[in-house]
Amino acid sequence: MRKISLAKKIFIALILGCVCGIIFNLVPKNFDILLEIINLIGQIFTNLIKSMVVPLVFVSIALGIASIGDLKKLGSVGSKIIAFYFGTTALAVSFAIFFAKLINPDTSFYIKNVPEISTDIHEKISVSKIILDIIPTNPIEALAQGSMLQIIFFAILIGIGITLANEKGTPVKKLFESLNEINLKLVAMIMNFAPIGVFALITYSFASFGLDIIPSISKYLFVTYLALFFHAVVIYNLMLKIWTKLDIKKFWKKFWPVAGVAFSTSSSNAALPISIEAADKMGVSRDISSFTLSLGSTINMNGTAIMHGITVIFLANVYHIDLSLSDLIKVVLMSTLASVGTAGVPGVGMLMLAMVLELANIPVSAIGLVLGIDRILDAGRTVVNVMGDCVCTLIVAVMENDLDEKKFNADV
Ligand code: ASP
Repeated sequence: MRKISLAKKIFIALILGCVCGIIFNLVPKNFDILLEIINLIGQIFTNLIKSMVVPLVFVSIALGIASIGDLKKLGSVGSKIIAFYFGTTALAVSFAIFFAKLINPDTSFYIKNVPEISTDIHEKISVSKIILDIIPTNPIEALAQGSMLQIIFFAILIGIGITLANEKGTPVKKLFESLNEINLKLVAMIMNFAPIGVFALITYSFASFGLDIIPSISKYLFVTYLALFFHAVVIYNLMLKIWTKLDIKKFWKKFWPVAGVAFSTSSSNAALPISIEAADKMGVSRDISSFTLSLGSTINMNGTAIMHGITVIFLANVYHIDLSLSDLIKVVLMSTLASVGTAGVPGVGMLMLAMVLELANIPVSAIGLVLGIDRILDAGRTVVNVMGDCVCTLIVAVMENDLDEKKFNADV
């Protein structure tokens, strides 16, 4: 018999969950005990996901930073590429939140709340507190309590420390490589349980929400793809125009195969060899592209950040949770950092969403509502993730006078 892929199983579980949940909701019988069991299964799955967030973020960020290798290399190219990666991710999530707010006229938060917030001194204090809260006084406590911003900050320091320690740091780097591998294996193992988890979470949600949820889910898919499309077509093209003056059509022609691999594998890592090859064809020197593109496939996830921003707004609406401006700022910050911690493999962005949701005080189990359709979103957001790496690499290559324009303009 042909093996059904995990993605298909999750999709089937989603459909079954919708059907069963709606039946539970519509049939006027008391299913309390059964629903309790289903809810328990969903919660077990949610806890498993949550249990992976701290190790995954800590290890993958420390390793990502340590992989830069020589800190001098971090100098010119490194600082530029990191600035572009962080900048575009923050821009992506901000636009995503704006899009989601715009398409939900009933929750036009910006118009309603801005004046109040701009005069509120406490808001200002809490914004500076967010910044101070990033620096842990006790990293072990931060790890134990799952304070994600502090964990990320500490992981970056560890990564720099490993790099500075040179050979003496190599055993620790090797340890992190091994831990990273273990983490990815565990994630894959948990994801095998995903069809049951998704079925349970969706059934429970639909049993509680009934049919009312369907229009908002379609809207969620539509808004996310619209924001991804906007970022890929408008923002990246604008960036290329502003910083490079290169022919955008030529970029698209050479990027196309990368987009195909990213879309079909939903993995930035899988697309990495193809994007390095495409960068070759675009005339970027290997010295730059191998460093910036591998770093990008680990820390630069514009598409994932877009999904985070929109999902937070969507789930906050579903649960009637009002997000203040400071919550939204935290979401932008956290999502930018979460994208750093997102491994370039399928589905991890959804896992990272857990920490963004926690920060916004949205129940993590709400992930069940979107997990079943995540495969559809993952494909699109991975294309944007990889495209971001390529665009930023091209810009940095131009800035460093390291782009062979003849090669860029040559036909493929
Ligand atoms: N699949 C994405 C990537 O590899 C990560 C994510 O799940 O958002 O780029």
